[in-house]
Amino acid sequence: MNRITPLRRFFHGGALEHGVSRAAPVPDAGMLPRECDVVVIGGGFIGCFTALALAERGLRVTLCEKGVIAGEASGRSIGWIDSQYLSPRKMELIDCSKRLWERMDERIGASTGYRRCGLLSLFKSPDDADAARQWLASVQGLPGVDAYLVDAREAASLLPAGADTRHGGLYQPSDACAEPTLAAPAVALAAGRLGANVLQHCAVRGIECQAGRVSAVHTERGRIAAQAVVLAGGAWSPLLARRLGLPLPQLMAFGSAQRIRPAVAGPDTSAWLAQGIYRANGDGSYTVGAVNGAAPLTPTTLRHLWQMLPAIRQMWSQVDPVFSLDTFLHDLKHLRGWPLDGPSPFERCRILQPETRHGVLRETLGQLQAHYPLFADARVEETWAGALVSTPDNMPVISGVERMPGLFLGTGFYYGLTMGPAAGQALADLVSGRTPEFDVHPYRHERFVDGSALQFQA
Ligand SMILES: Cc1cc2nc3c(=O)[nH]c(=O)nc-3n(C[C@H](O)[C@H](O)[C@H](O)COP(=O)(O)OP(=O)(O)OC[C@H]3O[C@@H](n4cnc5c(N)ncnc54)[C@H](O)[C@@H]3O)c2cc1C
Repeated sequence: MNRITPLRRFFHGGALEHGVSRAAPVPDAGMLPRECDVVVIGGGFIGCFTALALAERGLRVTLCEKGVIAGEASGRSIGWIDSQYLSPRKMELIDCSKRLWERMDERIGASTGYRRCGLLSLFKSPDDADAARQWLASVQGLPGVDAYLVDAREAASLLPAGADTRHGGLYQPSDACAEPTLAAPAVALAAGRLGANVLQHCAVRGIECQAGRVSAVHTERGRIAAQAVVLAGGAWSPLLARRLGLPLPQLMAFGSAQRIRPAVAGPDTSAWLAQGIYRANGDGSYTVGAVNGAAPLTPTTLRHLWQMLPAIRQMWSQVDPVFSLDTFLHDLKHLRGWPLDGPSPFERCRILQPETRHGVLRETLGQLQAHYPLFADARVEETWAGALVSTPDNMPVISGVERMPGLFLGTGFYYGLTMGPAAGQALADLVSGRTPEFDVHPYRHERFVDGSALQFQA
């Protein structure tokens, strides 16, 4: 197998391609309203779950998506709903989310592909077992944690034949998965049935404030007056926030994945192996992700570099810095700003689609094939890439904005499929003045501006 040289790696995987959605299409809804109670910006997991929760409360919601529902990160994820090795500070939110996922299909009357399939992280050495014990101790007694160590025999029963299970693994039965191409579209449709106005190809160019509070959004189709706006724009949130002079540091990385189909079906458990990560899709195919992502060097990255240093240091082993002149210039162009009555960057890029790192995917598959006979003749059915985002402390933002009443942020999600249902519920709570089910203090926006010492949370 040809290994990819570091220089090739640096100049590959950082470009943007013409965006094509992987997600199930959602039919276009009605007309642009002149006013509503809440505008949700972004039709990914966070925007869709928020719109659903708001519509369930009887609020008049308009969701504006510049491209199509789940066209960006949310339609491109691996599909894991899990909490293994994540920071104890995230357990309450994830527990809440996992419980919401369990009854999601019933709640929306449609399939999100949700399955409780369990997740096994296989140990490569006794050191991995020690790390798992430490993590288990750090989350002991916290809600939703049911992970335990498994020995070689139990690990082997959960994996395809050929696995070197001698060091055992960490298994969490409540970890689950959903189908990213189905989930957000199904949630958006359910929100629509409850009266939410789901508008696609409707970019928000800017947020208007009057007397210091949010009063409207300006879209490419016209103005919508609203007392509350939820910004759930994924990788684009900082750009829209910048227009309001709001600091919102986020780092973007590109991840590649592929769906493969072995000749015969294998075990149904999802797994994190030395050779890669995969989700068993339940139909005999597997979604396999490359462990390493690509972090494109852009003017925005350089602007946030200082604030993002803690995250960069922690994630260094999992992301390769890459450079693409096109992506650099694309980002530079956006920083100049735009008028509300002309095309904005959001219309120029309807679907953000990074270049797929085929070489890295081939390497990952080659390694799986070398170790697991099940995958030896696996057919590659599809490859894709998507953008992941993180914040300086790797905690998402689920928050109102102190200096701008009426504005709410649901962004910075590295684990948005896992966290989406609880984040949407909490955002709807914040908008409607209720107390969220979990403590949202760690997710407040103010931490980026009030001098809080930010510590990276896995
Ligand atoms: C390869 C890969 C694997 C992943 N695997 C997992 C996993 O296994 N488990 C997990 O939990 N997470 C996973 N993730 C992360 C997860 O997909 C994201 O955290 C999640 O999709 C983020 O959702 P979002 O709604 O914040 O952003 P997005 O899905 O990016 O949605 C934001 C939307 O806002 C729209 N938008 C932006 N600006 C505007 C505007 N001005 N006007 C109108 N619309 C706008 C965009 O078009 C976009 O559709 C993975 C991600 C990738 C790329």
